[in-house]
Amino acid sequence: MTPLSPPEAAAHRAALLDWYSRHARDLPWRRDPRPWHVWVSEIMCQQTRVSSAIPYFERFIARFPTPAALAAVDIEAVYPYWAGLGYYARARNLHAAARQVAQTHDGEIPSDPEVFGALKGVGRYTRGAVMSIAFGHREPVVDGNVVRVLCRLLAVEADPRSAPVQRGLWASAAALVDGERPGDLNQAVMELGATVCTPKSPTCLLCPLQGACVARATGQPERLPVKPARKAAAQVALVAGLARDDAGALWLARNPDQGLLGGQWRLPGLPADDPQALTALGLTPTAATPLITVHHAFSHQRWTVAVYPARGTPRGGDFVEFRAVPEAALDGLPLGGPALKALRALGLKIKARRGAGR
Ligand code: SF4
Repeated sequence: MTPLSPPEAAAHRAALLDWYSRHARDLPWRRDPRPWHVWVSEIMCQQTRVSSAIPYFERFIARFPTPAALAAVDIEAVYPYWAGLGYYARARNLHAAARQVAQTHDGEIPSDPEVFGALKGVGRYTRGAVMSIAFGHREPVVDGNVVRVLCRLLAVEADPRSAPVQRGLWASAAALVDGERPGDLNQAVMELGATVCTPKSPTCLLCPLQGACVARATGQPERLPVKPARKAAAQVALVAGLARDDAGALWLARNPDQGLLGGQWRLPGLPADDPQALTALGLTPTAATPLITVHHAFSHQRWTVAVYPARGTPRGGDFVEFRAVPEAALDGLPLGGPALKALRALGLKIKARRGAGR
């Protein structure tokens, strides 16, 4: 793709900033855009809708008003404030980065993009968002909303995840932000994608870019960005054991931090069709038929988990920890989606929930 030229970018910047001045949503982190607020909000809003993230943000900031406050607690104390947002790796990375800020930067969030970008879990997007919004650096952002707006504006007919298109998108975003009010400009493009240039029904008549938008001129802007054909998800059958200790607490297992459901808790189980496979985890199934079978779709796998009643103390497998958890303590744990579904279906009341989309 051909990136935006500086004159094109300047014209779009003016239109976007004017639009943003009149249409920016009133959000808690915009009322008080100190760097910590911007950082936390940007992490929370990745893969979570803004409206869903707001109450989480307010609770989190009330409990952890600075990076030092977050750094001072163990990660286990953070999970109750994240339970429901999902994608717990974000919480672990933010916690690790807050400790870096506390230990290496005297508790001050670095204002140098290179230094900030070297913190744990800070990728290109987070660096651009925090540096532009909180510190006024001309650093670009490209997220799903920016991809959609730019692919339509420029009529990009190739896979937006391909390397050449990615380069063109980042170059265009860099051209757009290379002027006044860089933080507002980045937020304007993302806001436009979230509220006007929406995936299925863009309201082009309200768009400040309508006069220049090539996809709009074709009459079918919703065709873009190109959606590459997805590979069929692999079907995976698993068995899991529902076992309790002598006090009635439920045995759970924690995944390694890396990989699918990284760091999350689940019922001890493994890929298999036969419940006897649970003996490899120290559990003995006590019935031949499952208590329940749950289905859960990931982007590249579809799990079918048969949950059997079991006795014993779990051990082994790929898990990093086992813990007997009283039912009343389940709310605060980062539970994986399949476990959440199974336990709820079995009548346990658990608050954790997930959201998706900005
Ligand atoms: Fe999106 Fe329509 Fe605006 Fe083009 S004119 S950027 S398709 S909302």
